[in-house]
Amino acid sequence: MSIGRILGQGQAKHILSRALSHSRLSHAYLFYGPESIGKKQLALEFAKALNCTSQGPEEACDLCESCRKTDARIHPDFFFLEPTKTTPAARDSAIRIEAIRDLQKKLGFLPYEGRFKAVVIDQVDKMNPQACNAFLKTLEEPPSATVLFLITSNPRQLLPTILSRCQGIKFNPLPPEAIKQILEEQEEWPDLDAGEVEIRVARSKGQVARALSDEVTQTAGYRQDLIALLDQLSWERMDLLFQWAKTLAKGSEPLAAVLEEMMGLLRDITLLKSGGAPDQLFNRDLMPALEPVARKKTLTGLLKMIDAVAQTQMALSGNANAQLALENMLMEFCEAA
Ligand SMILES: [Zn+2]
Repeated sequence: MSIGRILGQGQAKHILSRALSHSRLSHAYLFYGPESIGKKQLALEFAKALNCTSQGPEEACDLCESCRKTDARIHPDFFFLEPTKTTPAARDSAIRIEAIRDLQKKLGFLPYEGRFKAVVIDQVDKMNPQACNAFLKTLEEPPSATVLFLITSNPRQLLPTILSRCQGIKFNPLPPEAIKQILEEQEEWPDLDAGEVEIRVARSKGQVARALSDEVTQTAGYRQDLIALLDQLSWERMDLLFQWAKTLAKGSEPLAAVLEEMMGLLRDITLLKSGGAPDQLFNRDLMPALEPVARKKTLTGLLKMIDAVAQTQMALSGNANAQLALENMLMEFCEAA
């Protein structure tokens, strides 16, 4: 029922359903994979199934008192933690030690109503160091009849001591059919035309939030600008290119997002250049602008440009000066053009 309704993630569902029906549950699972592909949803459904009173063990009925209480997050054996801000205006949110201590206190008792105490911790990578140290104790000496579902899109930011004490379950981006189905089921978008569905699916990277966001229309303008930039690359117009680097380095658009768009466009141009099918393009809404650029460039040049973007992404993930890194990238572009 509820688990069956979640799209994709067949392998994750299979592993967990088997563990549930054979009563061979791990104390702690780590759900990892890109954002917005169903990790939290599946964790909440399995947490519910653990204490469902009227269905088989591998699926929640959604109707019994236990299921309804878990859905409303008022089940005394269900615990949900996520990062919070210290003040509403604070920029960063974190899972703090107070929240972990509070949880540990509650896990010290046997389940009140259910068979298990079910814990879902979203964005577990946002635990601050003190919280992390305290939480390690729970993983090292797991309380009885407790199942922890830890969720992260950034497993590399977790301490090895946490990783090694959980059973990792990898979540994959959703397949295009699943994204398409989700778009077509949006009640607030009854008239979404097939063309837009197709573009949203192509640009979603299998992530629901991306498919539903307005970035397709919002980014169309600056994706056009990026294509124009790729089109005009030349040593003679370095002034224009450096101006672009300066504006971008100081601009409001997040650099990582711009470089990701640039990578996507170069990938599409390369695909067109090498005779790939247009329906494989990320940016198929901009196909008429991409084609002339593809005709002008060479395949080797394009691959060098992709490499230059990758190098820049790496440099900027460290502490490189943004403007210099972008200027460098553009010079590499000119050399490759
Ligand atoms: Zn139930």
